[in-house]
Amino acid sequence: VASRILVTGGAGYIGSHTAKLLRMEDIEPVVYDNLTTGNRSSVRWGPFVHGDILDTTRLIEVIEQYQPVAVIHFAASAYVGESVVDPAKYYNNNVRGTLSLLDACRQAGLYRMIFSSSCATSGAPTVLPIDEATPQLPINPYGKTKLMAEHMVADYGAAFGLNYVALRYFNACGADPEGDLGEWHDPETHLIPRALMAAARRIPHLEIFGEDYDTPDGTCVRDYIHVADLARAHVLAYRHLAQDGGNLALNLGTGRGHSIKEVLRTIVDVTGHDVPVVFHRRRSGDPPTLYADAGLAYRSLGFVPRYSDLETIVRTAAPFFGLEARS
Ligand code: UDP
Repeated sequence: VASRILVTGGAGYIGSHTAKLLRMEDIEPVVYDNLTTGNRSSVRWGPFVHGDILDTTRLIEVIEQYQPVAVIHFAASAYVGESVVDPAKYYNNNVRGTLSLLDACRQAGLYRMIFSSSCATSGAPTVLPIDEATPQLPINPYGKTKLMAEHMVADYGAAFGLNYVALRYFNACGADPEGDLGEWHDPETHLIPRALMAAARRIPHLEIFGEDYDTPDGTCVRDYIHVADLARAHVLAYRHLAQDGGNLALNLGTGRGHSIKEVLRTIVDVTGHDVPVVFHRRRSGDPPTLYADAGLAYRSLGFVPRYSDLETIVRTAAPFFGLEARS
């Protein structure tokens, strides 16, 4: 192995896909995860350390033991709805947890961090697409904790010479194109897996949260980006830092928005199964339309999504729900 990268939250959905890609790039991922939402069986490309990011002492020991060249920090709580009813969990894991990791990095001398942020830091912007100059005015505790963590990373960067890239994901979706890793959250709340569960009759129907938005077909519009593309952006971000490329905060999206109804049509086309739906009132905290200006990630990292068209997203995800994609 040429080098190692510490991957907090590497047993989770985006973390595990990134760990696999690192391994393919001859970088050994050292996964550090408390397994509250991660899956032990998703850690297959390097050592696993069972630990909590709030445990600074443990993090220092792990950094000293494995001597990673960078840390990719995924470990966080990530349900918008839950963050509204249980903000303490989010301030603890996402704010205190990131602070703990930053202190461990500082004390153990690890000076490169790639941080998982979110388009939720932008709130409900009135001007679209969302670029990196769009004001960050989060509208829920999840987005606020991600923004606070971004600020902490930047301040540690300025004070102690930590170099960083903050990556603001739009809607992560899809599954490993080689079929090694899927999308599983417990509970599963995300649109595409829930719609596939409904198509496979594992749940009676999909609830569509709001049909009366000011959007072309009345349903919310989001920028769906494939997890394999997100994983590659992390590798590119690491290469950028390894070449002393300077600190960045980047949106990771495709630059295109799709409505819920468009997503459902693609699922019907690709799987041949209909998706039973029930219309439901709006979910609180949902902005009508979000999509990225993807230009800066392209200009600074050369990042171009390859798997993020809706058809490929559904094709890669469908087998994990027992659905065959039509040829
Ligand atoms: N959504 C829905 N039914 C569901 C799950 C999600 O109508 O069972 C909608 C949700 O209100 C939002 C979009 O689908 O408009 C994407 O939601 P998701 O939770 O996947 O991601 P988010 O945009 O919240 O990060």
